[in-house]
Order: sequence, then structure tokens, then C-alpha cells
Amino acid sequence: MSNYQAPVKEMLFAVNELAGLAEVSQLPDFGDATLDLVEAILNEAAQLAADVIAPTNVIGDTKGTRIEDGTVRVPEEFAAAYREFTAGGWGGIAQSAAIGGQGLPYVVGLAVEEMWQAANLAWSLCPLLSQGAVHAIEDHADTDLRELLLGPMVEGRWTGTMNLTEPQAGSDLAAIRTQASRDGDGYRITGQKIYITWGDHDMTENVIHLVLARLDDAPEGVKGLSLFAVPKRLINSDGSCGELNGVSPVSVEHKLGIHGSPTCVMAYENAFGYLVGEPNRGLACMFTMMNHARLGVGLEGVAISERAYQQALAYAKDRVQGRAPGHPGRVSIIHHPDVRRMLLSMKSQIEAMRAVTYVTGACLDHALHHPDPDARARYQARVDLMTPVVKGWCTETSQSLASMGVQVHGGMGYVEETGAAQHYRDARITTIYEGTTGIQANDFVGRKILRDGGQALQTLIADIRAVDADLARYGDALGTIRGGVADGCDQLAGATSWLLASYERDAWIPGAVAHSLLMLTGTVTGGWQMARAAVAASDHLAGDAGDREFYEAKIITARFFAEQIMPMAAAYRRAIEYGSDTVMALSEDQF
Ligand SMILES: Cc1cc2nc3c(=O)[nH]c(=O)nc-3n(C[C@H](O)[C@H](O)[C@H](O)COP(=O)(O)OP(=O)(O)OC[C@H]3O[C@@H](n4cnc5c(N)ncnc54)[C@H](O)[C@@H]3O)c2cc1C
Repeated sequence: MSNYQAPVKEMLFAVNELAGLAEVSQLPDFGDATLDLVEAILNEAAQLAADVIAPTNVIGDTKGTRIEDGTVRVPEEFAAAYREFTAGGWGGIAQSAAIGGQGLPYVVGLAVEEMWQAANLAWSLCPLLSQGAVHAIEDHADTDLRELLLGPMVEGRWTGTMNLTEPQAGSDLAAIRTQASRDGDGYRITGQKIYITWGDHDMTENVIHLVLARLDDAPEGVKGLSLFAVPKRLINSDGSCGELNGVSPVSVEHKLGIHGSPTCVMAYENAFGYLVGEPNRGLACMFTMMNHARLGVGLEGVAISERAYQQALAYAKDRVQGRAPGHPGRVSIIHHPDVRRMLLSMKSQIEAMRAVTYVTGACLDHALHHPDPDARARYQARVDLMTPVVKGWCTETSQSLASMGVQVHGGMGYVEETGAAQHYRDARITTIYEGTTGIQANDFVGRKILRDGGQALQTLIADIRAVDADLARYGDALGTIRGGVADGCDQLAGATSWLLASYERDAWIPGAVAHSLLMLTGTVTGGWQMARAAVAASDHLAGDAGDREFYEAKIITARFFAEQIMPMAAAYRRAIEYGSDTVMALSEDQF
């Protein structure tokens, strides 16, 4: 069974040269985030991920979780890993110093988080959701509630959850029925939530549930949802934990993957809760958590693909099978062009997804901390545009990459022994939770493109086209990359113009083309970042290269992406321009 080693050099390259650490560290509060410090942090996190967290991955998969005496039990190895994680202060790495965090940029937090996710996706969901809950409470709760909850949550002594889904309310949150009634200084919550990740566990003394519910007099639909913080154990006035509250896990789901993550049905029976933010403004508050989680789940696509790749690469170097031109004896399978095609597909798309995700993370740092309000608004527009792309494109791509990881192993991938199958099973959830790909695609087309007449997307395309001047400096050496980026931009611009010109004549068009447009945008932005990587690598090779092999490989992966992945852009555009005719043509009976 191969282990996980975080690709620190790749991550540092993406954080520094593509996401622009130098500019991020110019922002107020981030002066300490020097390249040396970030490198030291990544190396330390890599060690924790490899030595402590990664070894729990198979244990979680095989042991799973269970309910005992009304409490969810997770493997004890998870709790041991969690103790080391919190002792190192890792949960608060990108939380603001004002609430006890380490105040590092979000983009640095992303690189570190990728390591936890790759090491053990099921385990990593616990800190991911806790951090999202901290953001929502920090941004929307009143001072008293912030003081009550944030300290222990940032320290990791208490964890957080996100409670939206109910049996009749999945993608459609307007159907939420959980009720909330005023009771003195607080509220009483009654209802049932399903699929609640880390809804209960035995790793910490308390769990803070962020719950969407409806006040007695609330209007119908999403405009009648309020957000409540409901602790598993009531909190005494001195901040200590008291009696159990009226919220409990009813069952844990048996599921395809992430077996170590308890997915709970939660019963709320007159549970005491605190209002977070304004009444009936709960969805807006929850979106703070959901947007954080959407970028985090997009990152899961990167992380699980990286883990699958490392495993496939180790196997490909080891497994001897067949002969190859120019080699006298039998060869390891990495000599076969088709195996190399799969490995390069994985490597190049992982690099592209990582870059797109980190670059979006750095935009969020600028959106939150830039001193100039106009710049903040510009960066926020980019984050808004890219969040569904990061979530949808990275997780969809991770399905094919984790599948390739199995394929590289042949039969050994299909049996459970190697672990390749676990990555494939674990990856499968990422396109479903935190809004399915269909919901991300609708958001992308409806709210992020049509609402502003395509302006934010046009700005993105103009930024992508600007890389041409840098590519041109290297002439034929980066020629296919240059052609790939130019063609990708033409396809994206063409498909967008077609959509803007067509959607008013046919109300089905946005929904029918949304998936292809999201994947087209992901592909072209991926190609853009690979082009930037190739330019940065060429600059290094032309000057004081340091690690030549690393930079030479960067140019090859960027070329592979331009030659083998970017041609998909034209196919997506063609599919888009066929509109909704066939998609909507069959009656229900004809299916
Ligand atoms: C392991 C796991 C962990 C989870 N963790 C959490 C959690 O911590 N907290 C939480 O609140 N929820 C959680 N969920 C719930 C998850 O977010 C939902 O499953 C998801 O939002 C989809 O809802 P649904 O399952 O009801 O599917 P449905 O909404 O019924 O969707 C079914 C299909 O229809 C499509 N569809 C539905 N509506 C539309 C539309 N308008 N346009 C286009 N396509 C549409 C979907 O894309 C999907 O393909 C979790 C789920 C799982 C399986």
C-alpha cells in the first residue's frame, strides 16, 4: 500500500508563482507570510499528513462509524490524529488572529488543507466543516455569541456542522420544514435533518450545529429561513459544557465511500439554539459557510486525484508487464505509451486544478483584505464567478482521474487491497454534496453569467488572452500552448456570446447548456494557469534554474494539457450551440 507524500514543491510553486504569494503578503495583516515561512509551514504540515493522518485512511474505510449509547463512535485512530492536529494549531491556520487563529492567508490555508484531504478525505471533513462554521459565526453572530463559541471552535475543542438537508429538501432548500420558536433569550428547534457530516462523534466534548430552520411567523420559501447555532451540550455561562441539549444522532448512513466520516440523521426535539444573524436572513448567513465549503470541496477534487495519482505512479513503476521498443527485457508498465497517457492526464489536470483553486483562493484574500474598495469588488466578482467552476469542474474531473488511477492498476485496482478503489469510491461524493454539479452549473450560468450580461466572464477571458504576450516570448518552444490558449478563449467567448444571444428565446437553454459551459470554463482556465506555469518555468530555465528537471517537467505537463485536454473546449462549445432541442424533445414516456 503506497503512502501519501504531499507534493510540497508543486504546492509552493502554485501558491508562490501562480497565486502570487508576493502580492498577497503585501495585503494588510499578511506581512508575515513570506515564502520561507510558507515553505516551512508546508513542510511541517506534510509531515503530519504523511506520518499521522494518512495511516488512518484505510482504517477509517474498513472500520467505519457506529452509534453506541446515543453517541457516534469513530475509529480511535481518528481521535489520536485529531489531537495532534489541534495541538499544532492547524485548525486555526487561516482564521483571523482576532479570534485566536494564526492569521495566515486563505491561499496558504488551502495548500495545507489539500494535504489533510489527500491524507484522509473522510477525516478532513471534520475540520473543514468546523472552519466553515467559524467563518459564518464570525461574520454574522452578535458579539456575545461570537465570544461564547469562537474560542473553543478555533482551538478545535468543539467542532462545527452544517445542517441544511431534510428528506424533502435537498437541492431545493425552499422546502425546509424544521421549526424554530422564540423561548426567552433563545430559540427552540424541532425537526429532522439528514446526511449531516460529522453530525455527532466522540472526538470532542461539544459539537456546534449551524441549522437552517423556519421561525413560527416566517414567510414561505428561502426568504423564511433563519440560521441557528445549536450546541450538542448546553453551554454554561462560564463557557463550560453542561447537560446534553435536545439534539441527537438517530442513525449513521452506510455509503459508497468516506466510511470514516459519520453521515448522520439528526433529530432536533425542542433543542435550545441561538439565532445567528437576522431572522429570515439565514440563507445569506449560511452562504458564508457554503461558499467556503464549495471551494473546500473543489479542493477535495484536487486532493483525492493527487492521492490516486501517487498510488498509480508507484504501481506503474513497479508492475512489470510486456515489452517496449528499445528495451531488451520485460518492462514496468510506465514504459507503455497508454499508461503514460493516463499518468500525464492525471498529473497535468491535477496541476491545472490546483492552480485554478489556489488562484481563486488568493483572489478571496484580496477580496477580503485589499485596502482599495474597487479592487476588493473586482476580486470578489472573480471569486463569485469561479466558485462554482472550482467546485464543479475539479470534482467532476476527479471522477475520471480517480477512475484512471484504478485503470493504471488493472485488476489490482478493482480489488480493494491496493487502496486505488477506495480513492475512487471516496471521490464519488464530491460532485454531490455542497450542491450537486447540476446546481453549481445553474448557479454559474444563471447568477454568474446571465445576471451581469456576461461581464465578469468577459473580464476573465480578457485576462486569459493577456498571457499570449508572455507565451510569445518563447516562440515555438511554447507554440502549442499559445495556440491552445487562444483557441480555448475563442471557444469560450463564442459559446458565451451564443448563450447571451439565445437564452431569451428559449427558457430551457440555460439549464440545458450549463454543465458544458461550466466544464468549458474550467478547461480553459486550467489551460490558462498551465500556460502561466510554462512561462514561469521557462523564465527559471532561462535564468538561474535551480531544479531543472522540475521546470522542464512543468513545460511538458503544460504542453500535454494544451495538446490533449484543451481540444475538449471546441467539443463543449459545439454541444452548447445545439441548445436544448434534443435535451427537451422526449416526453417522459419516451424515456
Ligand atoms: C455523504 C453525504 C454527506 C452530506 N453532508 C451534508 C451536510 O453536512 N449537511 C447538509 O446539509 N447536507 C449534506 N449532504 C446532503 C447533500 O448536500 C445533498 O445530498 C445534495 O445537496 C443533493 O440533494 P439530494 O440528495 O436531495 O438530491 P436531489 O436534490 O434530489 O437531486 C437529485 C438529482 O437531481 C438534480 N437536480 C435537483 N434539482 C435540480 C435543479 N433545480 N436543476 C438541475 N438539476 C437538479 C441534482 O443535480 C441531482 O442530480 C450530504 C450528502 C451526502 C450523501
